[in-house]
Amino acid sequence: MRNDLTRSPALSLADVRNLGILAHVDAGKTTVTERILHATGAVHRTGEVHEGTTVTDFDAQERERGITIFAAAVSCAWKGRRINLIDTPGHVDFADEVERSLRVLDGAVVVLDAVAGVEPQSEAVWRQADRHGVPRIVLVNKMDRAGADLDAAVASIRERLHPAPLVVQLPVGAEDGFRGVVDLLDQRALTWPGGAGEPVVTPVPEELRTAAARGRRELEEAVAERHPGALEEFCEHGTLTAATLRAALRDLTRTGEAVVVLCGSAYRDKGVEPLLDAVADYLPSPLDLPPVTGSWEGAEVRREADPEGPLAALAFKVNATATGRLTSLRIYSGTLRKGDVVRDTTTGRTERVARVLRLRADRYTEVAAAVAGDIVAVAGPKAVRAGATLCAREHPLVLEPPAPAEPVVSVA
Ligand code: GDP
Repeated sequence: MRNDLTRSPALSLADVRNLGILAHVDAGKTTVTERILHATGAVHRTGEVHEGTTVTDFDAQERERGITIFAAAVSCAWKGRRINLIDTPGHVDFADEVERSLRVLDGAVVVLDAVAGVEPQSEAVWRQADRHGVPRIVLVNKMDRAGADLDAAVASIRERLHPAPLVVQLPVGAEDGFRGVVDLLDQRALTWPGGAGEPVVTPVPEELRTAAARGRRELEEAVAERHPGALEEFCEHGTLTAATLRAALRDLTRTGEAVVVLCGSAYRDKGVEPLLDAVADYLPSPLDLPPVTGSWEGAEVRREADPEGPLAALAFKVNATATGRLTSLRIYSGTLRKGDVVRDTTTGRTERVARVLRLRADRYTEVAAAVAGDIVAVAGPKAVRAGATLCAREHPLVLEPPAPAEPVVSVA
């Protein structure tokens, strides 16, 4: 299988991204997820939402209702990195499940509709991600729609979500003629004349050169204003290199001071590869995050993302499947091996891990072990519930519970 990293011993934690796609219903989350799985080679066929054949929507009930009800974690590979894609339900009825998914993410792509910009539900999703401290980037999707307006969408981010939007791409073509994006960092155009696949890379088209130069200048100024290291370079040289911009954008994304904005059309398969590059460039790996905290007998317990440390994992999803009960886990510390006996500090039971599985699209691949920072499913545990902590028997802790769900926001 192309890009298969499941057996790669060389993969380091710095190369893992635990990613969520967040959006209100209809912004294109399922389509973006599908196109990511396709672009990374995790699936070879692109399902369409309206046909009910998308890979993350494999549950029959989901297919019927056309919304993603059950969160599923899918592993895929992109340029030497592993992206664990954690599907978060967009429907307001599943707020608790969204909270649990947010608890295990390290970063997110927030999808907006290029015509509607920020909508009430996007604000609700944004606030949820704020409470969990999830670093995020924004994809302004549906650039091919009549009335798509990147500037208006960016203004709505500034006004309604509040971080400084830092635009790193401009659209090439508009509405039905949307062809691709200008990458402001590398000053080049990426277009997809035939739809899906690697972009055609060309110099910035003549008619967009002025806009691209202005966009780059605005980006440099906005970054220098917020990032001391970049400011120093900007004052000395009057400009910023693409490498400095990338590093500064990474820092600003992690602190949440600013948000990187990209654009594209998932449906037309334009903009997905640069989105994956941005995920790798700007969103953190498990190593970049502070140690996870929990408690035991009234005392705070901290665990580093260290494969050699004591096991600490959070169960965030339990599914009854044809092959039995599968528990999806985020491992925060230690290594989980097939055959391990672990402690569930919620029930007080010990549970045996019969199999460690990695979900790739619609099928599971068995692995011998999984380490801190990773997301896997396990078979064997019988009574583990979503929200439970699984840990080494002699190193018990209860991981902080997910933040309580906010009251449901009704959308007209
Ligand atoms: P979700 O509810 O956020 O998961 O959104 P979906 O992925 O189900 O998309 C909602 C609708 O918008 C579907 O009919 C998609 O085909 C359509 N859609 C998604 N992305 C795009 C896009 O880039 N352009 C256009 N024109 N339609 C899109």
